[in-house]
Amino acid sequence: MIDALLHGTAMAQRRALAKAITLLESTRPDHRAQADELLTALLPHTGKAFRLGISGVPGVGKSTFIEALGLHLIGLGQRVAVLAVDPSSSVSGGSILGDKTRMERLSNHERAYIRPSPSSGSLGGVAEKTRETILLCEAAGFDVVIVETVGVGQSEIAVANMTDLFCLLQLPNAGDELQAIKRGVMERADLVLINKADLDPAAATRARAQISAALRLLGWNERAGAQEAPHWHPQVLELSALRAQGLEAFWAAVSEFRRLQSADGRLAARRQQQALAWMWERVQAGLQQALRHNPAVQRILEPTTRAVADGSLAASVAARRLLAAHLGNLSN
Ligand code: GDP
Repeated sequence: MIDALLHGTAMAQRRALAKAITLLESTRPDHRAQADELLTALLPHTGKAFRLGISGVPGVGKSTFIEALGLHLIGLGQRVAVLAVDPSSSVSGGSILGDKTRMERLSNHERAYIRPSPSSGSLGGVAEKTRETILLCEAAGFDVVIVETVGVGQSEIAVANMTDLFCLLQLPNAGDELQAIKRGVMERADLVLINKADLDPAAATRARAQISAALRLLGWNERAGAQEAPHWHPQVLELSALRAQGLEAFWAAVSEFRRLQSADGRLAARRQQQALAWMWERVQAGLQQALRHNPAVQRILEPTTRAVADGSLAASVAARRLLAAHLGNLSN
């Protein structure tokens, strides 16, 4: 599988990729061990793709945009992988990219690879599989890995934390802009695209000015007291995904961002920081799960939580008791 993934033809690589991802997503411990071996072996071959995060509320035009952009990039000689993060897919049974009719032209192209969201329940679990899948796609030689998120809840932040550039799609009405600021998503955007500009060009231009102003304000707050000059001002561009207008300007901005970030080592620093944050996030999740499954903890869990709930035990004392039960049980 490793050989086919690294050196196969485009078709063989797509097949090997699908198999490798199935291995990653399996819950069997022996599969997990194999998947870990695979990731370790492939790691030296990863990191060369550009990781692009795309977010925006349902209906804003994400899949229309990703298909148009993907075909545009293929036209430039690139290979494009599209992954999705949709933690709700395990609840609803479907996923944003599960429906094969979405991005039909792109998904049929041999230089593209489209994978629906993993459905392993928690956002942490879904994000973990997606991060690992990014690495597999890179080893298989994809030049651009697009990670799409549903645009609701914490999945947007998760995608911002695993990509080199995080791009937010907006509609040409100002209400949405405030929503995105409230949810803390706008602050994370490196680029904002006002989509459906064809419907009302004047409104799109207005929205562009408003969002640019909002971003400058956010930037000022963030930088209050900071010494260094900002290296990148988030840009706001107009787009019609449906008519494939604005794609060149978008890709020019992405390329400029990439050039600037690579030149002064920020790209490597961003990835390093993402990898370390992710390691600790997973350690924390693993420890919490181990603690909850520990029989010594389970014995005192119910009375302890009840005592905290009814106010007869301080939360911090309860936490120390649970930790002591866990650690004591480990050292026995
Ligand atoms: P998603 O839910 O964010 O993936 O949105 P879709 O890509 O499925 O688009 C939702 C609807 O908006 C579809 O009917 C698209 O055809 C339409 N749409 C997407 N982009 C544009 C655009 O640039 N202009 C116009 N007029 N319609 C668009």
